[in-house]
Amino acid sequence: MTASDLARTGRLHIGGEWQDASSGDAFEVVDPGNGETLAHVADGTIADGIAAIDAAETAAQEWAATPARRRSEILLRSWELLMAQRDDIARLIALESGKAFTEALGEVDYGGEFLRWFAEEACRATGSFTKAPSGAYNILTQLKPVGISVLVTPWNFPLAMATRKIGPALAAGCTVVLKPASATPLTSYAMAAIFAEAGVPAGVVNVVTTSDSKGVVGAMLADPRTRKMSFTGSTEVGRGLLKQAAGTILRTSMELGGNAPFVVAADADLDVALDSAMIAKLRNGGQSCVAANRFIVHASRVDEFCTGFAARMNEVKVGYALAEGTQLGALISDEAVAANLELIEDAVGRGAKLLAGGERARGEGISDKGHYLAPTLLRDVPPDARCMVEEIFGPVAPVTTFDTFDEAMELANDTDFGLVAFIQTSDMQLGLQFADRVHAGMVGINRGVVSDPAAPFGGWKQSGLGREGGHEGLLEYLETQYVATSW
Ligand code: NAP
Repeated sequence: MTASDLARTGRLHIGGEWQDASSGDAFEVVDPGNGETLAHVADGTIADGIAAIDAAETAAQEWAATPARRRSEILLRSWELLMAQRDDIARLIALESGKAFTEALGEVDYGGEFLRWFAEEACRATGSFTKAPSGAYNILTQLKPVGISVLVTPWNFPLAMATRKIGPALAAGCTVVLKPASATPLTSYAMAAIFAEAGVPAGVVNVVTTSDSKGVVGAMLADPRTRKMSFTGSTEVGRGLLKQAAGTILRTSMELGGNAPFVVAADADLDVALDSAMIAKLRNGGQSCVAANRFIVHASRVDEFCTGFAARMNEVKVGYALAEGTQLGALISDEAVAANLELIEDAVGRGAKLLAGGERARGEGISDKGHYLAPTLLRDVPPDARCMVEEIFGPVAPVTTFDTFDEAMELANDTDFGLVAFIQTSDMQLGLQFADRVHAGMVGINRGVVSDPAAPFGGWKQSGLGREGGHEGLLEYLETQYVATSW
């Protein structure tokens, strides 16, 4: 049985065993592209969540004591096995998330790279040794695994959001319980199978799916054996989880929502700006925390930018995730389509002009039971329109203009979020000034995507706490111990 076939059996993975929920219940997983049932997966209970913590505890000591080189080899083997099943796993991601198969392949490559990167980082959890300033003794620091980690992930990148957490956790010597999004649980089970085949010992990676995220995650966070929570999802849910984490003073990494500004300066190369805009807006159907949310374009360039952007949007082939040539698949749910349509209606009601899309996508190969939205471009969008203030999470691009750089900076920073910010300019000095002045954890200059497993990904302000990827991603799963030494 392949990892993808096994995933569809939808059974909990606890202590190395595949098992039904203790209640015997299961919930349905639906293909957002056509409404068809893909699988029924075990509906984990609070008791199952605690059983997963038991399993993670049983495995913890031995895994922490496993040489870093060995942990590294196992992670590398996991990456090799994933790559050997690249097409199968991409198909599973496309089916449960609705994203186009080509995008799903990209996610396997990107998500897999976290395993390879952290396989390399596993051997680099280095401490330090210095003489105390008084000269009286020595200051030695060493890094130790933080302990049992509860990982909660969203549906938009079912593989990459999981490997971005499991990779560094395993590299650091932690055992984990993964609670994936209920809309996209299958990819997580496929990964559990791959980790087991790669030699990850029983209990090191546990996966619990549930329709009661609040109850099951809440119970796992309240368990004093849990020492770390890593969450990726909405700011609203993250805020609630941080309050719960305070109960047992958990280490936390929070990757939350975004509202990225995308500035097009007067001297931008239009082709580069349009290529970047298409990626920044339409990658994953705009259902990405790092999607460009607000296009802030110099008034002298806005006509040509909007003409080019609308033309490119109208050329995008919307369709079923697995159909040949599909560039933009279904959104995750009908609620997501309705929420985007509401934002469009709100903007138009406030005077914005609709230049492309603005409605559900229809046509050959598009099922009425799927959740499709045409790529949408709005111009002259006022700053108080909801789509300028809220995270859009769909293929909708609102454009506004600026005259001076100060004005662009003011607009860019006018948000409670601070995940990523983009600028298009031929003047690198201006690009770096933008980076200096913008309040965001990541900046893209003449780029539409910044994510890279080797780079520290994370946000400022209400976009989160901590970093994933880079060396920083490993440190999130390590505790520092200081040893004062004399001899
Ligand atoms: P979400 O509703 O916050 O859900 C995220 C995860 O939390 C899911 O596993 C969900 O389970 C679980 N959850 C929901 N309510 C919970 C509760 N009360 N207690 C415990 N767990 C709970 O977010 P989403 O809609 O899946 O994802 C979209 C959001 O994620 C966007 O805001 C996006 O910006 C953000 N995101 C951020 C990053 C980043 O790196 N900064 C990356 C990707 C996505 P269920 O599925 O069962 O509800």
